[in-house]
Amino acid sequence: MIELISKSLCTKCNLCVAVCPTNVFDKVDGSLPIISRQSDCQTCFMCELYCPVDALYVAPEADCSVEVEENQLSSTGVLGSYRSVIGWNPRRPLSDAKDKSYKMFEAMAQSEGIPMSPPTK
Ligand code: SF4
Ligand code: SF4
Repeated sequence: MIELISKSLCTKCNLCVAVCPTNVFDKVDGSLPIISRQSDCQTCFMCELYCPVDALYVAPEADCSVEVEENQLSSTGVLGSYRSVIGWNPRRPLSDAKDKSYKMFEAMAQSEGIPMSPPTK
């Protein structure tokens, strides 16, 4: 669920307002958007993905709001980490080497008796 818009990082571009599929944010003239309908958040991460300055944090908890602290999110590199993993952040190196989700598909394929192709790289 969306938990944070950083006052210090947000550039008021309103991209998050535009991409949110459930209209969670309200645009505010001359200021950063506000999270007006947090309970409508679908935890889709689109706002975090599109924010060009990593000013948003969407917590993985989809069913409840959790308390977050911006300094901690920032110091642990969590702000913008989803965008980085997806490869949309040119300022951060790709982290696909750390992505272990292929193990899940490997296990699913094995349980179904489906042969997996060997990695190409
Ligand atoms: S995570 Fe998705 S639904 Fe939630 S505020 Fe961001 S764009 Fe909207
Ligand atoms: S996309 Fe990011 S920088 Fe733009 S308004 Fe939303 S939080 Fe601020």
